[in-house]
This record gives sequence, C-alpha cells and structure tokens, in this order.
Amino acid sequence: MVTIKIVRGDITKVVVDAIVNAANTSLLGGGGVDGAIHRAAGPKLLAACRALHGCETGEAKLTKGYQLPAKYVVHTPGPIWRGGQHNEVALLANSYRNSLNVAAAQGCQTVAFPSISTGVYRFPLAIAAPLALQTLQQTAASTAKSVTLIEIVCFDDQTQDAFESALAALTK
Ligand code: ADP
Repeated sequence: MVTIKIVRGDITKVVVDAIVNAANTSLLGGGGVDGAIHRAAGPKLLAACRALHGCETGEAKLTKGYQLPAKYVVHTPGPIWRGGQHNEVALLANSYRNSLNVAAAQGCQTVAFPSISTGVYRFPLAIAAPLALQTLQQTAASTAKSVTLIEIVCFDDQTQDAFESALAALTK
C-alpha cells in the first residue's frame, strides 16, 4: 500500500530513492525546478542527460542523482497548457504514470514529485492536482506496487493548498 504525502519544501533537499524533474523535451536543463535540480546535482547530471537525446512530452527517463540526496532523478517533460484542447490532461497523466513506473522499475520505494507543468507551463492547478493524485494512486495500485511512499513537494502556498484539497477529496 502506498502513502501519499503533501509536503512543503525544496525537492532538491528531499531524501528519497528518486525525485522527479519537471524537465523540457531537450533534457538539457531550464528554469524553475529543472534549473534547481541541475544546480544541486552538479555538472555530471547534464552530461548524463545529454546521452539520453531528449524525451517526448509525457514520457520519462532515468539518471542517477549525483550530488543530490536522492539516488535517482526521473526526468519527464510535462505538457505546455494551450487551453485544454491539445491533449494536455492525458499528457500530464502520462508524465505522472510513466515517472512512477520508471522509478519502480529501478527498485525505488520512495519517490518525490514536484507539481509538474503548473509553473512556466501554466497548467491550471485546480485540474492538475486531482489528476496527479488520482493517476499516482492508480499507478501505485497496479504497475508500481513496490512504491511505499510518494511525496508531493510543494514550493508555494497555492500549490500546497491545491494538493491538500485534492488529497482530502481523494481520501473522502
Ligand atoms: P513546468 O515548466 O513543468 O511548469 P516549473 O519548474 O516552472 O515547471 O514549475 C513546476 C512547479 O515546481 C511550480 O509549482 C514551481 O513553483 C515548483 N518549483 C520550483 N522550484 C522548485 C523546487 N526547488 N522544489 C520543488 N518545487 C519547485
């Protein structure tokens, strides 16, 4: 059985088997959480990402964590929000599902996620938070059964509020 926790903090400091990076399709770094993860992991992370030759939106690829406290990083480009009629919901669910499955396939039991796509990619939090939690719960119950703890690491009040409301609704 998986436990899903909503926590406040910086995902680069979280001690878990794997953290997920809200990357872009180049996998060569960017702003936001992606930039923070690359700064904290050190230059070997960028070298490892170069060797992956990019990643499609909604897919997920694994590297080591290098200087991070986490053993692994799962990189997933979430969708850019373009009004909701461009498959954004399915693509965001793919990012969460594929990331958890990649971590589980590597033997990870504890996995931390940022709020994928709700920063610069502008996906509405009110849609993203319940979708994220439902997708993670379903994936942990089916294909990623070895995962025991999922932490959603929220960087601001708005994100924390949205995920706490979504978790309360899910466990009702
Ligand atoms: P995207 O391009 O997928 O929207 P962003 O990095 O712009 O990705 O934002 C995704 C979320 O990550 C936002 O809620 C942002 O506030 C948050 N974030 C930024 N830095 C960190 C960090 N160090 N730890 C956890 N979350 C972070």
